Amino acid sequence: MNSPINRPIFASIHSEAFSHNLTRVRELVPNSKIWSVVKANAYGHGFESALKGLADTDGFALLDLQDARWLRSSGWEGRILLLEGLFQPSELEDVLRLNCDLVVHCENQVTWLESLQTKSLKPIQIYLKLNSGMNRLGFKPSAYRTAFHRLHSAGHEIHHMSHFANADQIDKYPTLGQQLDCFSEAIEGLHGEICLANSAAILWHRNTSGNWVRPGIMLYGASPTGNFDDIRHAHLEAVMHLKSEIIDIQLVSAGDHIGYGGRFMAPEAMRIGIIACGYADGYPRQAKDGTPVWLEVPGFEKKGVICPLAGQVAMDMLTVDLRNAPQAKIGTKVELWGKQVPVDDVARMSGTIGYELLCGLAPRVPVLLK
Ligand SMILES: *Cc1c(COP(=O)(O)O)cnc(C)c1O
Repeated sequence: MNSPINRPIFASIHSEAFSHNLTRVRELVPNSKIWSVVKANAYGHGFESALKGLADTDGFALLDLQDARWLRSSGWEGRILLLEGLFQPSELEDVLRLNCDLVVHCENQVTWLESLQTKSLKPIQIYLKLNSGMNRLGFKPSAYRTAFHRLHSAGHEIHHMSHFANADQIDKYPTLGQQLDCFSEAIEGLHGEICLANSAAILWHRNTSGNWVRPGIMLYGASPTGNFDDIRHAHLEAVMHLKSEIIDIQLVSAGDHIGYGGRFMAPEAMRIGIIACGYADGYPRQAKDGTPVWLEVPGFEKKGVICPLAGQVAMDMLTVDLRNAPQAKIGTKVELWGKQVPVDDVARMSGTIGYELLCGLAPRVPVLLK
C-alpha cells in the first residue's frame, strides 16, 4: 500500500516473525519437509509477506490456481500443493504449466487425471487423501487402494495424506490415535511419502510428522486451540500486529452508558478512549467487555498497559476503559492484537479462534510489510 494513511489503523506484517516461526517448525520436526499453508490469502497476511517471510519453506500449500499463478509470477520456483486439488478438469492445463502438486480426494478427480496422457509428461505429484475419520474430504479406506492403483496406472507419482480432526484434543472422537491406525492400515504395503500433520499435530503429536508436515496457524504465531497459553512453550511470534490510535476521549460520570445498547455503564467518573477500529476492519463485534487492548503509554515496564474494552464494538470504532492509563491521550498508539495482545486472547473473548480473526482482516485495513 503506497497510499498515505489518514485513518490511523493498519496491520503490520513482520516477515522476521514468519521466518522465526518457520525455524521453530524445523526445530520441532527436523526430519520432515514443510508445506507452509498459505490458503485464505496467507491467513489474512497476504501472499507477498508470506513469500518474503517463508522463502525457506519446502513448498506452499493453498487452494486457488490464481494464487499459484501469482507465486510463480513472483519468482517462486519451489513446490506448490493445491490442497483441494482440481475443482474442474479445465484446470489441468494450468496445473501442468505451473507445475503444481495436487491433492486428490474424490472419484471425479481420479477420472480427470486418468484421461490425461502423461506418457510424454513429467508425472504429477499426487497427495491421495484418505478420510481416516474426520468425514470431510477423502476416500474411505475401502476405496483408497483402488484410487491409488488407478492413479498409479495413469503414470502419476502418489503420496499419502490425511487430516486430523482432533490433534489438539484428547477427549474427542475420532481420536488422533484412531485416525493414525486407520491411516497405517489403509496405506500398508503402498509406496509413497506421508503427509499428515497440521500445526496441532506438529506441536503435540510429533510421531505423526512423516515426510511432510502442513503447518498453518503456528507459522502466523497463533494457537490451534484458540488458547495462547497452549503455545507459550513453543516460542512462536505473532506475525500480524493490528494497530490504531485513540482518536478521542470522553469524560463520563458514574452511571453513564457507553455506545450502542449502552452495554457498559461507568461505575465511577472515568475516561473512555475512542479507538479507530471496528468490525468493518475485522475486529470481532462479539468481543465482550474486558477484551484486552494494549495502549502504548510511558511509565510501564513494557512501555504500555492493557486497558479493557468497554461497550459494544461498532463498525468503525471501539471504546476502552482508560482507568489503567491516566497517561493516555488523543494520538496514543494502540495494539488490538499482535505482540502485546495475542490474537487468541481477543478471539477467546469473542467466542472464536485466532484463525477467524486473522483471515477476517478487512480489505480496507492498510497492510504494511515489515
Ligand atoms: C488449513 C489446513 C492445514 C493447516 O492447518 P493449521 O491448523 O492452520 O495448522 C493443514 N492441512 C490442511 C489439509 C488444511 O486444510
